[in-house]
Amino acid sequence: MERQLQGIGAQAAAAVLDDHAMTVLALCPGGLFTQRDPGEFETALTASTRMLDDAAAIDARSLVVITGGLAPGERDLGFARERALEGLARLVPHARACGVRIALEPLHPMVCGFRSVVCTLREANDMCDVLNAPDVLGIALDTYAVWWEGDLPAQIARAGSRIIGYHVSDWLTDTCDVRLDRGMPGDGIIDLVGIRGQLEEHGFRGHCEIEIFSQRNWWQRPADEVLTVIKERFTQDAC
Ligand code: ZN
Repeated sequence: MERQLQGIGAQAAAAVLDDHAMTVLALCPGGLFTQRDPGEFETALTASTRMLDDAAAIDARSLVVITGGLAPGERDLGFARERALEGLARLVPHARACGVRIALEPLHPMVCGFRSVVCTLREANDMCDVLNAPDVLGIALDTYAVWWEGDLPAQIARAGSRIIGYHVSDWLTDTCDVRLDRGMPGDGIIDLVGIRGQLEEHGFRGHCEIEIFSQRNWWQRPADEVLTVIKERFTQDAC
């Protein structure tokens, strides 16, 4: 989404969205701020600050933030997590001023090295506890990232109204790529109906955002076909 925005600018994008009566749930991804180098860290923060401005311009309800993995040459995972917490803390006031919420998204541990040093809903909850900014800091829960988490039901209950984004795809047992080979709901092994039920039990009433990174399969098909299958899976109660 951010790449498309950079192509035409947020103001023009807002006009296009308006012309087509479309609303934006979230802009993504901000964050990626685990660098030890102070200059690189500040550059990343500035980029996220600008994304918050863009999100406000297109009236997006939130900016999804992923922390980033380990910077090149870095081996101190604890430092990277502290840096990510610092980055979030620095973003909170600007998010508040923009009226855009931050949706911290934990990602699957297989991408810890290069995408997110926050790998569990438990860790995301811990960060939210520390930062104590419930008006502006929430969590995006992605089924693909946390379906395996041992105490997921307890962490969903703990998160409660923090869950402001819900991303859905399925885990294929024979996956070829842990990032870009996501499955269509119903084609894999995640208890999507169960997870959604837990979310709704704890008050979630937001959208179910189908997010299928699928380089070898769904991205190869016409968009209309993909949308048709998604609608079918909804009506078949696959998610
Ligand atoms: Zn996601």
